[in-house]
Amino acid sequence: MRGRGRLTALLIGSYLLIIAAVAGAVAAFVQNAGQHVGADYTAYASNLVRGQQETAELRHAIRALVDHPTEFHQQHILRTLATIEGRESTTRNGLRRSPLEPSAYAGLLEEFDAVMAHIPRLRELARDAVNDPEARAELRDLGLRVEDSLAYVYSELHQLNHQGSADQQRLMDRLSTMVIVLAGLLLVFIGVLLWALRHIAGQKARLERLTITDALTGLPNRRALLQYVEQMLPHSVRENEPVSLALLDIDYFKAVNDDYGHPVGDAVLRLFAQHLQGLVRASDFTARIGGEEFGILMPATDGDGARELCERLRTSIETLPLPVPDHECRLTASFGVTTAAPGEAVSFNTLYILADRALYEAKGQGRNRVVAKS
Ligand code: GH3
Ligand code: MG
Ligand code: MG
Repeated sequence: MRGRGRLTALLIGSYLLIIAAVAGAVAAFVQNAGQHVGADYTAYASNLVRGQQETAELRHAIRALVDHPTEFHQQHILRTLATIEGRESTTRNGLRRSPLEPSAYAGLLEEFDAVMAHIPRLRELARDAVNDPEARAELRDLGLRVEDSLAYVYSELHQLNHQGSADQQRLMDRLSTMVIVLAGLLLVFIGVLLWALRHIAGQKARLERLTITDALTGLPNRRALLQYVEQMLPHSVRENEPVSLALLDIDYFKAVNDDYGHPVGDAVLRLFAQHLQGLVRASDFTARIGGEEFGILMPATDGDGARELCERLRTSIETLPLPVPDHECRLTASFGVTTAAPGEAVSFNTLYILADRALYEAKGQGRNRVVAKS
């Protein structure tokens, strides 16, 4: 029973650990998934914002050069055009790496191409504009058209990016829900497995108990006695303690079966077993050896103590009321006892043979008596 309790505690402990590990992993996934999506889209969005700012700066620089045709403003335009070209390639790379469908932005890229094709001409015009009023006029017209188109492209890309972020977030939310449901199912599955394991361990322990228990009386059987002796005898030798073994056999038990029938014989055996269990000490080990024969192994008990106990049992058996119609019927039993002296390394087989011989003598001497042999 204690073993089963320990197994249950171990299984519950393991299950709690598994729950904690799965919950931790799922929480980490859910949180990470959201952050990852957010980080990608935020980085791209800031690239687009810079693109919009540079576009506005181009307009500002062109106006400044047209109004004040100085080299300072010319350099400003040239620098801004270079930045716009650089931004174009980071914007394209970002789009390629993004989970957005290429068909969603193909039209915008065409527009981008068309706008960017004007940049070399704008650069030429900016160079000429300081001294050439016609170049300034063309720079203003073309520059403002380019600025207009770029502003449109970046604004649309911004919109697309925002939309993609929301779609991706929804997808991740759905994925997170699926992961949570799967983790729940996994925990249920592991829980059922562990429960089955506990059930099987319980069944195994029950079966093991059955193999060492006598079915009729519920006492330990001969196998249980042998198992117990294997541990107990070496322990007694180590502790320098005596050990006694008594074998007892009900007298003329065949007559009980013959007179009252086998079921009554069974009931008498059950009662007899209960009676023995009630009288021996907690440290004594009582077993049904077979038929109407029982054994009592008495640790730390010398010959006198063993004989005393057997005498007590013998006299109490004489007065045991039996479950038979004829209340006059009484049982008696014969006892054979033997003792190993303190520290004597004797085998159980030797003890058994001696006790059996003593029992045989008790029968031969007329039954209902205790005979000791050593
Ligand atoms: P003795 O004094 O020499 O021991 O005589 P006895 O009749 O007790 O011994 P014997 O060996 O002749 O008979 C033992 C009887 O015990 C016969 C057998 O049917 C009965 N017996 C053994 N096991 C059981 C059991 O489980 N139930 C019942 N009802 N009877 C059993
Ligand atoms: Mg008998
Ligand atoms: Mg017998």
